[in-house]
Amino acid sequence: MSKFKLTQEFADATLCLPMLELASATSLSELDKQLVTQVKILAGAFRVYLHKHSDKVCLINISTKKTRFDLDDGKKSIGQLVIEGEIDESHYQRLAFLVQLYQYQHRTISQVSMDKLTRLGNRAALDKKLESIFHSLNRDRRAEKHRAPFIVLFDIDYFKKVNDDFGHLYGDEVLVHLAQLMKATFRESDTLFRYGGEEFVIVLNNISSEDTLAVMNRFKDKVARYQFPLVGKVTISVGTARVNAKLNPHDLLNRVDKALYYSKSAGRNQVNSFEDLSERGLVKTEEICSDDITIFN
Ligand code: GH3
Ligand code: MG
Ligand code: MG
Repeated sequence: MSKFKLTQEFADATLCLPMLELASATSLSELDKQLVTQVKILAGAFRVYLHKHSDKVCLINISTKKTRFDLDDGKKSIGQLVIEGEIDESHYQRLAFLVQLYQYQHRTISQVSMDKLTRLGNRAALDKKLESIFHSLNRDRRAEKHRAPFIVLFDIDYFKKVNDDFGHLYGDEVLVHLAQLMKATFRESDTLFRYGGEEFVIVLNNISSEDTLAVMNRFKDKVARYQFPLVGKVTISVGTARVNAKLNPHDLLNRVDKALYYSKSAGRNQVNSFEDLSERGLVKTEEICSDDITIFN
């Protein structure tokens, strides 16, 4: 993809704000939202759809006249931007420029937020995701009961032995296959991260605590059945915790880590939820004192 160019002709005031908004987006979801918002403003009262391949949504039955931009990040197709209504030439040029800037930003954000080996989100992307979850929960606390997602942390069992027995390259291959199993298992609305080394995080949306446990038990069994090249069988230990607006990202990760640690100490290849363990008195719950001070008992 060539670098976008702002020619004199389009260096007008109408483009300044949309450009700034797109350029300051730090996550793909923010960038997508800004593209739709800014294109709507620029194009007038038209309806605008951003249809990304990753959404698995098909746009059909758009009967009115429409303008379509194919989006790509320089290597692969991202999806399409569809604008309903007729657009004159000068508007079209401005929109085309914004689309170019969007694609450039998309590629940059993807590169900095992706783990190179597994192509899942990296630790920085997870931090951003948690920040935005807590931000929206704190903005609307009433929604917490219905909308608070679950966070899952899992770790490969005895992975050191895999490296020792088969070598680091085959260890890496296990990580890649595991990431592919994750992508094939979870919904597009769930977000997947490599937390570090052989530890992974999943943010599960719109799900109950029972379903979180059921889904993760099925995934744990799927991994245990999977035949990894040369290495053969591998198992994982899993911890889950519900996002709670009274916590902060650090406390939440602490909770899910406690649940994972319990799964390890109780024999590995199993799933435990922080809330269940806490109710049974098997893990300690932190006392929340204020917004930024937490005491563990
Ligand atoms: P358990 O978690 O069941 O307690 O045992 P473990 O042997 O998996 O635990 P530990 O966390 O002590 O070891 C993790 C190992 O993961 C250490 C390191 O050799 C390996 N590891 C971390 N990152 C990578 C990586 O990127 N590639 C490979 N091949 N190995 C890695
Ligand atoms: Mg580990
Ligand atoms: Mg491990």
